[in-house]
Amino acid sequence: MKILNIDHLGIAVKSMDEGKKFWTDIMGLEFDGQETIEEQKVNTGFFAVGESEVELLESTAPDGPIARYLEKRGEGIQHIAFRVENIEEALKELKDKGIRLIDEKPRKGAGNKKIAFLHPKATGGVLVELCEEQ
Ligand code: ZN
Repeated sequence: MKILNIDHLGIAVKSMDEGKKFWTDIMGLEFDGQETIEEQKVNTGFFAVGESEVELLESTAPDGPIARYLEKRGEGIQHIAFRVENIEEALKELKDKGIRLIDEKPRKGAGNKKIAFLHPKATGGVLVELCEEQ
């Protein structure tokens, strides 16, 4: 598996508008756009940081994964995403190494990327996302 860089940090927020104000007005990042991922019940907002990004995650429904995360842990870093050269190959390699995967096959994420999550129990407590540009 070849990891190319940290693609983005996923940060759970209660309010996209509040989060956006902080990351643009205070931190001076450029807002790259917003996208709703219906099947994950989440609004995503991206902010460029060099080759990486900050991704804000706002829930669109009280039973969505981000709503549940906020209930349990509050706002903060929810996942770290690594860009890989070939996501199918990376998942196969990890599976062969006995790593528990949330997604055995890549699905469509924001920005039309292929994404997949590894189980935090297999990664020392970090929710790791792999992604591949296509
Ligand atoms: Zn992400």
